[in-house]
Amino acid sequence: MFEDKNSEKTNISDLGEFGLIEHLTQKIKLHHKSTVLGVGDDAAVISGDASVLTVVTTDMLVEGVHFDLGYMPLKHLGYKAVMVNLSDVFAMNAKANQITVSIAVSNRFPVEAIDELYAGIKTACEFYKVDLIGGDTTTSPTGLIISITALGTVDPKEVVYRSGAKDTDLLVVSGDLGAAYLGLQVLEREKQVFQVNPNAQPDLEPYSYLVERQLKPEARKDIVQLLKDLEVQPTSMIDISDGLSSEIIHLCKSSKVGCQLFEDKIPLDPQVISTCEEFNMDSTTIALSGGEDYELLFTVKVEDYPKIKGNPNLTVIGHMTQEQEGIHLITRAQTKIPIVARGWNSFE
Ligand code: ADP
Ligand code: MG
Repeated sequence: MFEDKNSEKTNISDLGEFGLIEHLTQKIKLHHKSTVLGVGDDAAVISGDASVLTVVTTDMLVEGVHFDLGYMPLKHLGYKAVMVNLSDVFAMNAKANQITVSIAVSNRFPVEAIDELYAGIKTACEFYKVDLIGGDTTTSPTGLIISITALGTVDPKEVVYRSGAKDTDLLVVSGDLGAAYLGLQVLEREKQVFQVNPNAQPDLEPYSYLVERQLKPEARKDIVQLLKDLEVQPTSMIDISDGLSSEIIHLCKSSKVGCQLFEDKIPLDPQVISTCEEFNMDSTTIALSGGEDYELLFTVKVEDYPKIKGNPNLTVIGHMTQEQEGIHLITRAQTKIPIVARGWNSFE
C-alpha cells in the first residue's frame, strides 16, 4: 500500500497552468439543470430558484496538517476532500448540487499524481451526483493544499440549523463512532513499521473497517433521505467532524440547551471495541474525541421517537435538558461527568 504506482511521470511544467486545468477538467459530466455553465469561463453560472434556499460551505485540507500522503493515496484524498464538504451540506438537511475545487501544488507532484487526486474527486461527483463547475489552480512551494466549496439547495421549511434544539428533544446519531480515528492510529503504526522495515507487509485485515472509515469516508446523504422518508424533521443538526463531544457542545451552545448523553448508548463497531482493547484505549473517549466520523448528530421531537425507534442507521444516545443543567455524560456506572471539548484543534 505504500508503493509508488506512478512509473510514467509528467512534470506539471510540461503542461503549464492552463494545460493542467484543461487536462483536469476535460470530459466533466454535469448532472443538474441548475448548472447553466461549468468550467471554462471567468465564472460558473447557476440558475436560482426563488422557492429554495442555497447553502454554501468551504473546507480546506493542507498536507501535513489534515493528511499525510505516506498512507493516504491521492485518489482517496480527492474523494475524502469532497465528502468533508458534502457532509456539511447534508448537515443543513440540504441536497448537494455543485462543487468548486481549488488546488495549490508544488512541482514535486507529477501530473499523474494530480490525475489520481482528480480521479477521486470525479468518482465522488459521479456517485453523489454533484457537478464540478470550477476552481483555481496555483503553485505551492512545498506541499499540497485542496480547498473545496460545495453548493446545495434546501426547501426553506426543511432547512436545519444548529440552533433549533429544544430542551425536551432527543439526541440522535447516525452510524457508529470512533472508527476513523482508530483507522488513523492503525495507519500511523504501520507507517512507522514500514519506515523501520520497508519489506514488512502490513496485515490490515483485522482493521479493515477502521482503515476504510479513515481513508474512504462517506457523507450521509442517505440519512437526509431516510429522515424525509420517515417524515422526521430534525430540530437541529451538525456533522461529526471533530468528535462527538465538541459537536454536542456546539449544538447545545447554539440552541441554548443542556444535554445528557448515555455512555451505554454510544454506537460502536465491534472492530472499534476490539482495537481499543488491543491499543489499551477507552472506546468512549475515542468516540467522544476521535473525530472524522462524518456522521450526522441531530435532535428530534420526543413524539418522533416511534418513527426512528429500532432503525439500524439511527441511535438515540441521549436527550436535551434545560441549559442550566449543563452538558453531561451519564456513565455505565451511573455517574454524571461534564462533557468538555477535546476534539481536534488545528492550532494546538
Ligand atoms: P481565471 O484566470 O479567470 O481565474 P482560470 O484560468 O484560473 O481562470 O480557470 C479557467 C477555468 O477553469 C475556470 O472556469 C475555472 O473555474 C476552472 N478551473 C481552474 N482551476 C480548476 C481546478 N483545479 N479544478 C476545476 N476547475 C478549475
Ligand atoms: Mg483562476
